[in-house]
Amino acid sequence: MSDLTLADWQQRAAELSIEGRAFINGEYVNALSGKTTADINPANGQKLADIACCGPEDAELAIAGARKAYQSGVWSKLPPAERKKVIVRWANLLEEHQQELALLESLDCGKPISDTLYVDSASAINTLRWNGEAVDKVYDEIAPTGPGELGLVTRMPLGVVVAIVPWNFPLATTAWKLGPSLATGNSVILKPASNTPLTALRLAGLAKEAGLPDGVLQVLPGPGGSLGEALSLHMDIDGQTFTGSTPVGKMLMEYSAKSNLKRTFLELGGKSPNIVFADADLDKAAKMAALAIFYNQGETCTAGSRLLVEESIIDEFVAKVAEAAKGHMPGNPLDPNTVMGALIDKKQFDTVEYYVDVATKEGAELVCGGKPAQVVEGGYYYEPTIFKGVRNNMQIAQEEVFGPVLVAIPFKDEADAVAIANDSIYGLACGIWTNNLGRAHRVAAEIEAGSVWVNNYFGGDITVPFGGFKQSGNGRDKSLHAFDDYTELKSTWIDIS
Ligand code: NAD
Repeated sequence: MSDLTLADWQQRAAELSIEGRAFINGEYVNALSGKTTADINPANGQKLADIACCGPEDAELAIAGARKAYQSGVWSKLPPAERKKVIVRWANLLEEHQQELALLESLDCGKPISDTLYVDSASAINTLRWNGEAVDKVYDEIAPTGPGELGLVTRMPLGVVVAIVPWNFPLATTAWKLGPSLATGNSVILKPASNTPLTALRLAGLAKEAGLPDGVLQVLPGPGGSLGEALSLHMDIDGQTFTGSTPVGKMLMEYSAKSNLKRTFLELGGKSPNIVFADADLDKAAKMAALAIFYNQGETCTAGSRLLVEESIIDEFVAKVAEAAKGHMPGNPLDPNTVMGALIDKKQFDTVEYYVDVATKEGAELVCGGKPAQVVEGGYYYEPTIFKGVRNNMQIAQEEVFGPVLVAIPFKDEADAVAIANDSIYGLACGIWTNNLGRAHRVAAEIEAGSVWVNNYFGGDITVPFGGFKQSGNGRDKSLHAFDDYTELKSTWIDIS
């Protein structure tokens, strides 16, 4: 799809016009306070744009507009087939602007351009199109009553929903939220992460171009602490959908309880086990184990950050993973050959350094990496890092690093592997590598995680639900199950005797 070179992308970046204003009631507008914040390119530390810094007063304006749009029925009462047309048109517009969106996402997040082009933007387009296409194919229910009664089970939109998303997959997670929430007729207020607002803002303009009525989608960039809290505590928001860290997810639950019990669906952190049995295809498993942790700089909620290896092969296997890690050295995100880009900011870089220090102090043995990489002046790059000699009760094995740091932990047998895998507050994902079909099924059945991948990692597409067990969350993005998060079930019982 693209044969653009590093120089081509750099040229395009230099010519890019970036929208940094909020999108409220169908218009790009400044924050009411007039405040802006600088949006920084993690690849080189340079400013990309000034972004509207919205606060509680902008939230009020956006909520009022969203409520008005919802009550008017201009979107919420539209036949699903009509909503479909708009959403599919929107997906088509994203596709027309795919290179621009991929470039914005790469500049904003430090992600490799090949990923933002072929994964993030492609996934967002597919997600919107799929949800648009799906919504006029879902039927409500009629209960199995006797002849004198009619029991209708119908769905209605929640009303006004707030979507709060993180910085690691802004475009993809935004589409996971907006696709089903808009398809089912809600009005939505989107709050992107404060450091990655660019594609969210661009998406809003394209939605208007596709025919989405004013007020149905509002995009408010701004800080989580003040703006996010104001939205989440608001009495006139009916639901909130969130992807981000577990501590903030817990706060949103509290805000819901303190306000109006708004429906709250959370996709949170992880410390996912990737379990390798000695009978697996070890070369393939090793390559994928490296990808499972180093993809997206390790800033992936489902990262396979705990490598559980059968003890008889652990040294041999970790050596193979270390070899594969050499293929993940960081590079300039705009170079199409780069597979690992820059960490999002100094704070995340410091977090990675902190955890490398923790692992070392806990007695883990460094196999490779453990230090910054020099790629582009001003950017935060870190080498793929692997520790072995780790036990599951160490801090480094229990806490989410959210960076390119892998720990290898030995296990004795199937039962031991399952016990170690499940010994975590998280339950987001798990990889299992074995050529024994029975073992694959037995282990998969015992794992406490929302996604289990046998002989692959990161498998799945829009057709299967995605979400966590335990402290990895309670919601489900993707598939028709996502519609459940954005609709209320209503039972209407009619006496027809
Ligand atoms: P974060 O929790 O710091 O921020 C997420 C969003 O919440 C941002 O938009 C932020 O501005 C907002 N926010 C922060 N404080 C808030 C508050 N008090 N009230 C309301 N909103 C607030 O997370 P992050 O650092 O942006 O993202 C990394 C985390 O996200 C990791 O833990 C990762 O595992 C998780 N994540 C989970 C999934 C998933 O689907 N399970 C996907 C991607 C990322």
